[in-house]
Amino acid sequence: MSKIGLHWFRYGLRLHDNPPLLKAIKTCSKVIPLYILDTDYFKPDKVGINRIGFLLDTLKALDSDLRAKGSRLFVAQGNPNEVIRNLIQEHKVELLSFERDTEPYNKHMDNNIIETAKSLNVETFPLWGHTMFDPEYLLEMSNGKAPLTMTSFLTLMSETGDPPKPLDPPESMPSPIDNLKCKDVFVYEGIPTLSDLKGFNFDPKDYTTWFVAGEKEAIKKMTEFLAQKHRVSTFEKPKTLPTALQPDTTALSPYITRGSLSSRLFYHSLKDTLKGMQSSKPPVSLKGQLYWREMAYLIGFSVPNFNQMEGNPICKQIPWLTGEEAKSLLEKWEMGQTGYPAVDAVMNQLRTEGWMHHLARHLVACYLTRGDLWVTWELGRDVFDKHLVDADWSINNFSWHWLSCSAFFHQYFRCYSPVAFFKKTDPNGNYIKKHVPILAKFPDKYIYEPWTAPKGIQTACGCIIGKDYPKPMVDHKFVSKENMDRMKKAYDAGKAKAKNSGEPPAKKLK
Ligand code: FAD
Repeated sequence: MSKIGLHWFRYGLRLHDNPPLLKAIKTCSKVIPLYILDTDYFKPDKVGINRIGFLLDTLKALDSDLRAKGSRLFVAQGNPNEVIRNLIQEHKVELLSFERDTEPYNKHMDNNIIETAKSLNVETFPLWGHTMFDPEYLLEMSNGKAPLTMTSFLTLMSETGDPPKPLDPPESMPSPIDNLKCKDVFVYEGIPTLSDLKGFNFDPKDYTTWFVAGEKEAIKKMTEFLAQKHRVSTFEKPKTLPTALQPDTTALSPYITRGSLSSRLFYHSLKDTLKGMQSSKPPVSLKGQLYWREMAYLIGFSVPNFNQMEGNPICKQIPWLTGEEAKSLLEKWEMGQTGYPAVDAVMNQLRTEGWMHHLARHLVACYLTRGDLWVTWELGRDVFDKHLVDADWSINNFSWHWLSCSAFFHQYFRCYSPVAFFKKTDPNGNYIKKHVPILAKFPDKYIYEPWTAPKGIQTACGCIIGKDYPKPMVDHKFVSKENMDRMKKAYDAGKAKAKNSGEPPAKKLK
């Protein structure tokens, strides 16, 4: 066994439950562990500092875990197909292993790379690992069409049973090669820091998320959460608090998304925790949350043009604002300058911490689209994608469809109020006071509607509305009603078009 293998780390930035890595270790005497920073995927103007900083910290942690097992991580930058082709040729690689992916861009990349490897007579092991199940198997089980409702997804899950058990991490790693130098491939000396990144221009002091990256931290956080057995067994997502100052849910999404924590490990650890106990049930339970994730991935894997409205068979066609018209509205929303403190607090938390509670995401996504500003969900999705440390192509697109009533959820007459929604869980506005500090001195009575405070109070609080903090950019009570009418018209037009063309309207596939 004197083979040289190349293991290309994709999302699975971990040692546990990593099927393709284990395959390479079993078959090769030397394994080159590689991460490729693909700048066509991470476009410098589209990716924010918290998102990329968290990724780099994850790579640093992975490097340290690999070193503890006798190896290390190499980080290259460029087009993965070209990087891999060059490295295979330069280092006489005979085996290539990597985790397959479900996103269209990455699926296309996978196919190209498999072709490249074939043309160079290199054995390839592209295996699934980022989802609980092989998505091709799930699609086959559901006759080629992803279930579009949780009820039908749960039926599918009752047929599949539990996902496979997670694999243990390797005891040790084969040694890597000493040096990855290669003509035409840019390889970093070690793990790049934010200031090292080629083609990006970040100021490290803007890296402000509190999440600590890496597999060890992920497993520690999961273990600590699961140790709270009562909390776990009674977990019901809709009852958790969007305005809590510390996360009221597991806050494991950055680890699951960046691949530091395998969803199969989480599933089976959860199952072991709940053994013999009465517990809440999907879709609201913790297991249910993993099912939402799996369902979003399956839909993203199989629905054409899932990341856009046009040409997307399950997406309602709605005449949203786009282009220049949308730009200035979007900017105010992104920068927490809408004048509605609850919305601005969530957007400020997004930019500074890179994470918000699920229902907080609901509020701002509804506000941007069908609720208030009528801006296309695709632009909101991009802003989330830029800043979230858990930015996830499948879940993000899935959720924006949902909140904009473009698919999955169609009750557009139910709308989140930027004034009333958070009052239910946070009557004193502590969440707002934390994330919109300019309003911190406002009496509780005015915290959700500071523009209604008398001038004298505004002066005493050191914040004049319209000068130090914006007035509401729209009147929610008025525009939300107007937008419901627009939604109705768009839905009716969709139905009429489908009727005239004889085609089925955008609807549930199953
Ligand atoms: P928990 O409630 O503790 O759930 C455990 C895990 O289950 C999560 O870590 C996540 O992997 C999965 N999960 C939970 N809720 C959902 C859901 N609704 N759909 C799919 N999977 C879920 N989540 C992301 O991970 N990345 C995103 O880019 C993302 N974008 C979103 C955009 C919008 C507009 C909305 C409304 C939601 C989005 N979500 C996204 C889903 C959800 O808000 C987060 O997964 C969740 O808040 C993460 O916190 P947690 O780990 O404490 O979740």
